[in-house]
Amino acid sequence: WIVPKNPTIVYVEGDGIGPEITRAAMRVIDKAVERSYKSSKIEWVEALAGEKAERAKGDRFPKESQELIQKYRVVLKGPLETPIGKGWRSINVAIRLMLDAYANIRPVKYMEGLESPLKNPEKVDLIIFRENTDDLYRGIEYSVDSKEAASLREFLRRQLGVDVEDDTGIGVKLMSKYKTQRIARMAIKYAIDNNRRKVTVMHKGNVMKYTEGAFREWSYEVALKEFREYVVTEEEQAQGKPGRIVFNDRIADNMFQQIIIRPEEYDVILAPNVNGDYISDAAGALIGNIGLLGGANVGDTGGMFEAVHGTAPKYAGKNVANPTGIIRGGEMMLRFMGWREAADLIDAAIRKAMKEKKVTQDIARFMGVKPLSTEEFADFLIQS
Ligand code: NAD
Repeated sequence: WIVPKNPTIVYVEGDGIGPEITRAAMRVIDKAVERSYKSSKIEWVEALAGEKAERAKGDRFPKESQELIQKYRVVLKGPLETPIGKGWRSINVAIRLMLDAYANIRPVKYMEGLESPLKNPEKVDLIIFRENTDDLYRGIEYSVDSKEAASLREFLRRQLGVDVEDDTGIGVKLMSKYKTQRIARMAIKYAIDNNRRKVTVMHKGNVMKYTEGAFREWSYEVALKEFREYVVTEEEQAQGKPGRIVFNDRIADNMFQQIIIRPEEYDVILAPNVNGDYISDAAGALIGNIGLLGGANVGDTGGMFEAVHGTAPKYAGKNVANPTGIIRGGEMMLRFMGWREAADLIDAAIRKAMKEKKVTQDIARFMGVKPLSTEEFADFLIQS
C-alpha cells in the first residue's frame, strides 16, 4: 500500500465494549507513531456503525459511513453486534466485501506471563492466513424444503446420476484458482518480508480432491513458479537444498492435534476459509486467551483491523474490558502501512505489561494480581 505521511484512517467505535477499547487503541497507536516518526500523524475520521449509528441516523450502517470506508480504505474497527439467525446482516462482512479483503490474518504468539494449557507455550508463534471469500462460507446453501434444494437434487439425480435422498439440505463448496492463488501469494510474500521460515498449506485434499486438493495444487504452483528463489519443498530440504522458506502441506484434521503436540513445527499457515476459521480459534486457545488476539482483513488496496473477540456486553461502559485485541489489530495495521518501528513499540509494550502483570481483570484474576482498568492499561502501554 502507498501510505501518505499523514494518512487518514477510518475508525468505527463498535458496540458494547467497542467505544472504550477503540479509544484506548487509538491513544496507544498515536503515541507509538509520534515516538517513531516525529513528523507523521494519523488523521482519524469516524464512520458511524452499529448501535451508535442507529441512534444518530436510524440506520446501522449509513451511506456516509460506507463512502468514508470506500474512500480511505483503511479501517480500525471495534466489535459490532450481529444477531444469530435473524435481524440485520453482518456489518463486519459488509466492510470486508467493500474492501475486497480476501485474507483474514491472525498472528498467535505466546507472551511470557500468560496461562496456557500447553507445557511449552513459548514455542507457539504462528500466523494464519485464512481465505476470506470462497468455500462453504460463500453462503450458497438451501434449506431442505426450498425450491432451490429440490431443483438441485433433481439436477444431481438426472444430470449427474447422483442419488440424493429427499429432505436433504444443500450447500455448495466453491474454490477458485484465482482466489486461492491471490491468498497464497500474500502469505508467501508475507513470509519472505517478515523472515518467517515455513509456509504450510492446511487442506483435506485427500477427501475433497477438486476443491481442497486443488487449493493445495494451486498454492504449490504459486510457491514454485513465482517465488522459486526463496522457496524449497520439504523433499528438497531433506536433500539438503538451501532455501529461505520451506513450503509444505498437511492434512487439516491432523493439524489440530499437531499444533498442540508440536507447535514449533508450524509457522505461517495458509488455509481455505472453513479450515482457517476453525484452526484460528484452536490456535488462539494455545496462548491462553483469545481476548488478546488481533485480526486483519486485508486486500490489495486496503484493510480492516480489529480484535478477534466480540462486544462482551456485560462489561460495556465499565472501563474494565481488555483492549489488547484491538491494539494488536492496530499493530497489524501499522505493519501493513509499512510503519514497522511504531508496530514494534506496541508489541514490546504489550509484552512488558504481561510480564509485569499489569493487566485488566480478565487476566488479572488468573495471575492473582490487582487489575488495571481499560484506561490504566492503555496508559501503562503509552508510558512503556
Ligand atoms: P464475545 O467475544 O463478545 O465474548 C466472549 C466472552 O469473552 C465473554 O465472556 C466476554 O465477556 C469475554 N470477552 C470478550 N472480549 C473481552 C475483552 N476485550 N475483555 C474482557 N472480556 C472479554 O463473544 P460473544 O458473546 O459470542 O458475542 C457477543 C457479540 O459480539 C455478538 O453480537 C457477536 O455477533 C459479536 N461479535 C462481533 C465480532 C466482530 O465484530 N468482529 C466478533 C465476534 C463476535
